[in-house]
Amino acid sequence: MKNEHADSRRGFFRRASVAGSLLCSVTAAGQESLSGQSASRAPRYDLLVRGGRVVDPSQNLFDDRDVAIAGGRVSAVGIGIPEANARQILNAKGKIVTPGLIDVHVHVYDGVAPLGIPADPNCVAKGVTTVVDAGSAGAHTFPGLRKYVIGVAETRVYALLNISVVGQSTYSPDNPFGELLDLRHANPRLTIRTIEQNRDTILGIKIRLTRNLAGDHDLRALGLAREAADAVKLPLMVHIGGSYSPLKDILAMLKPGDVITHSFRGGDGGILDDKDRVLPEVRSAVARGVHLDVGHGAGSFSFDTAEKAFRQELLPGTISSDVHQYNVNGPVFDLATTLSKFLHLGLPLPQVVERATANAARLFAFPQGLGTLRPGAEADVAVFSLEEGHFEFVDALGARRIGQQKLVPVATVKSGRLYGSASIPVVTL
Ligand SMILES: [Zn+2]
Repeated sequence: MKNEHADSRRGFFRRASVAGSLLCSVTAAGQESLSGQSASRAPRYDLLVRGGRVVDPSQNLFDDRDVAIAGGRVSAVGIGIPEANARQILNAKGKIVTPGLIDVHVHVYDGVAPLGIPADPNCVAKGVTTVVDAGSAGAHTFPGLRKYVIGVAETRVYALLNISVVGQSTYSPDNPFGELLDLRHANPRLTIRTIEQNRDTILGIKIRLTRNLAGDHDLRALGLAREAADAVKLPLMVHIGGSYSPLKDILAMLKPGDVITHSFRGGDGGILDDKDRVLPEVRSAVARGVHLDVGHGAGSFSFDTAEKAFRQELLPGTISSDVHQYNVNGPVFDLATTLSKFLHLGLPLPQVVERATANAARLFAFPQGLGTLRPGAEADVAVFSLEEGHFEFVDALGARRIGQQKLVPVATVKSGRLYGSASIPVVTL
């Protein structure tokens, strides 16, 4: 990836934002508000997200509220905040307003890891203000992720460093060579050094243990990842399924705060036994503080598994998309579609939103103030239309379900800046 690509993407957002302002400044509402505003008093707020149904599980708030933003922070959440107090109004009436979503498993190392996609059109443009790139980069390739993605994306990008120094750069469908097939790629010493130099952006360590990626030495590779994670005192995210060693042996090496991703996959190496019962080792891992993440992906989410687990009262702690090159055009599309699948599975909207906001914010050591609309928090806001109808959802195995509701992203605010507001009016005063 080259710098000019990133620059042109930033340019796109700048143009889109300008076009949105022009479009809306000529609306009747805009002219009325403009004429009604006192010219002598500067507006107190930069942006007012007005009249939406706020769904903020971090403060048990599920009601119509206005969200006022100033200086990149949430300034107030209340009822009837006067429009005249704000420079810009986003009319969210009839929409769902949540904290900016956090997707804890994505792949945005566009141009280096074959599965990478550009962050901004797939994340901040779709309600996701913060993402964690889950192991696309290892120690050898992380400097590029930092320089060409984290440093230039409008989306707030953090990373889990792959224990393999090459990250996920070796594997594509046309060259399916896993990053841990040669165990010499797993280098705790270099992983530790890279993390110590980049603690502001690296939040943990990632390892993939499927047999075609880690061969029959998965537990030795996991031991090396464990050694690095313990040294830097950060969590491990472990990609499960189809491993040489049974899941119970993998779980035995995990500690409180570690994360299992692809928790609801189908096939072997998953959370269910051959009689479809949740493995006791999974329950005991969860009980001692190991987190279950969804990580839908191209091969790692099964409606059937999720339905069986839910009936046994095993739920994910976080819902992530694992969106990448080989699923972004379906079946994943984006995080909002993944969340809609859990609405279909019967999880109420606040619980679904919680798993991509408050719970996700607690999973890793993000800087304070993400995943919430509490006054003083980073002004990350997502606005959705909750559409009613018949929507076909497809899992990673091709199984289909018809859902009655779908979350459709319509606008995003990140650190107080508005993105992607074409489908609802914005009034600039
Ligand atoms: Zn992944």
